[in-house]
Amino acid sequence: MITHDILVVGGGLAGLSAALTADPHLSLAIISRVHPLRSHSVAAQGGINAALGNSQEGRDDNWEKHAFDTIKGSDYLADQAAAELMCREAVPTIYEMEHLGVPFSRSPVGLIAQRPFGGAGFPRTCFAADRTGLVIAHTLYEQAIKRQVKVYDEALVTKLVVENGRCVGVVIYDLATGQVLPMRARAVIFATGGYGRVYLRTTNAYINHGSGIGIAYRAGVALKDMEFVQFHPTSIYPKNILITEGARGEGGYLVNNKGYRFMADYAPSAMELAPRDIVARSIQTEVDKGRGFEDEYVHLDLRHLGQKKIDKRLPSVREICLKFGGIDPVETPIPIQPAQHYSMGGIDVDVRCVSSLAGFYAAGECACVSVHGANRLGGNSLLDTVVFGKIAGQEASNFVNGLELKDGNEKFLLDEAVAEKAKVDTWLSRSGGKMAHHLLNDLKVVMSEKAGIFRTKKELAEALEAIREIRDDYGRAFISGQCLRYSQAIVNLVEFGYMVDLTEVITLGALLREETRGSHYRLDFPKRDDAGWLKHTLVSLKDGKPEVAYRDVQITKYQPQERKY
Ligand SMILES: Cc1cc2nc3c(=O)[nH]c(=O)nc-3n(C[C@H](O)[C@H](O)[C@H](O)COP(=O)(O)OP(=O)(O)OC[C@H]3O[C@@H](n4cnc5c(N)ncnc54)[C@H](O)[C@@H]3O)c2cc1C
Repeated sequence: MITHDILVVGGGLAGLSAALTADPHLSLAIISRVHPLRSHSVAAQGGINAALGNSQEGRDDNWEKHAFDTIKGSDYLADQAAAELMCREAVPTIYEMEHLGVPFSRSPVGLIAQRPFGGAGFPRTCFAADRTGLVIAHTLYEQAIKRQVKVYDEALVTKLVVENGRCVGVVIYDLATGQVLPMRARAVIFATGGYGRVYLRTTNAYINHGSGIGIAYRAGVALKDMEFVQFHPTSIYPKNILITEGARGEGGYLVNNKGYRFMADYAPSAMELAPRDIVARSIQTEVDKGRGFEDEYVHLDLRHLGQKKIDKRLPSVREICLKFGGIDPVETPIPIQPAQHYSMGGIDVDVRCVSSLAGFYAAGECACVSVHGANRLGGNSLLDTVVFGKIAGQEASNFVNGLELKDGNEKFLLDEAVAEKAKVDTWLSRSGGKMAHHLLNDLKVVMSEKAGIFRTKKELAEALEAIREIRDDYGRAFISGQCLRYSQAIVNLVEFGYMVDLTEVITLGALLREETRGSHYRLDFPKRDDAGWLKHTLVSLKDGKPEVAYRDVQITKYQPQERKY
């Protein structure tokens, strides 16, 4: 049986960072559903935050100001000690990555360049043109190759194996052979990314189904603050590919069909660089009030930046517009609309990435520490992945080094794999029922129509009911054809089961939270309610049903204030 000390599930930035910081004397492997360099991290465009103070305007910046902006941006739901830790670690982390070889863009005097981003008091976002995630992932992957980190790619983890309250491995579906196999480990780190594909419009990659979050939930670990879903203001219409916030950071304007820069009405000082929740709602409001184009989108105008700046700072934006929108932003405004972008909530872990399940850790977008609270600031997610990825690698190593060697659970792991294979066999044995893509489409429609940017009790309750009906349909799912190798149908059905769980948790948390905070906007409760709701939502699975609990938010020195921009 394949056995390692530590299994890292996920080859994006969080997984690579964890693998690179784990104790090199331990046997470690990365498991990933795709090649690590196909992870969604490579799509990150705009940059990564750290208070380096490299720009003229940013000379007075420091990590505490970064922490304050993060906490205010989170609408005071972030745990403040965690946000402080992330922002303090940001500065050495950027220099460490520079030393590993990340080719950051430079200022005229040769320092790491920094651009303004939404909700930030200073230009604080370090970048490599608009390909930041790509270059960081390539650099970390090179380091992983140098250290001969073992990678099992094209392997979908379908289950966590828990024996006597401890995580002892995973079950995988190996796409290349079609086998369902156990893999044994003394610690498992999940770095499985977000769940954007539960919405119709999303900037996320096709692989972002969030199965990791669902697998942890099924293994008994609580999910935290799942009702907080980030909608990015600017995805290109109608394909919903991201147009980075860097485009506004470099000076782009948002205009409605009257040619008016409407952000003046919503965030008069920050304008286009207000936090994402506010800008996304403003755009949607303009469209809903008939001031958009074709009842769908507004314009992001970059023309005044000029071709030279666009080509230097935003080359991928221009390329995306040319290839997917058929327009050149040098000459034409970009049609944009909000789309799902990021999952603030996730697997409940503490600031050391430790979960309630012994031997199980989580980091990156799949985890909720919580540093982003109710709304994440642009440039803080890449930071979260590397800072907490490293911590997860260290913590899991400490845990494993403190364990006594124990063998003899092969039989248990094999039985778990057999049970997983039996589910696949059931789908293969049916000759009719629902197919994965139909089920997924039904789910996406419900989430987009009833649990989107603006929410109400009525719609959320309807969504919950619809999700439970879709779950019944999943019980009758089938696969036509018998091929087990590279079966997208198997992958889809495994993942779909977890997506139903996630959407139930998102919707339930949103229905119960009768206030508006950050990305969670309730039309029927339009105010933030600190007396009633300054707390984290925790949902765990008890006897097959979601059970909800709450936990206080950790406050250090930043008392909640009204959020104005
Ligand atoms: C278009 C776009 C642009 C962005 N731009 C920025 C930006 O400029 N700045 C910023 O800070 N943030 C940005 N973000 C957010 C940020 O990129 C992500 O939050 C972050 O990269 C997530 O990294 P991760 O390592 O947690 O997960 P990912 O990079 O998503 O990797 C997940 C990994 O898990 C694996 N996996 C998942 N499920 C399974 C399973 N069941 N079995 C096996 N393997 C599995 C996948 O194969 C993959 O390797 C952007 C996001 C998008 C979508």
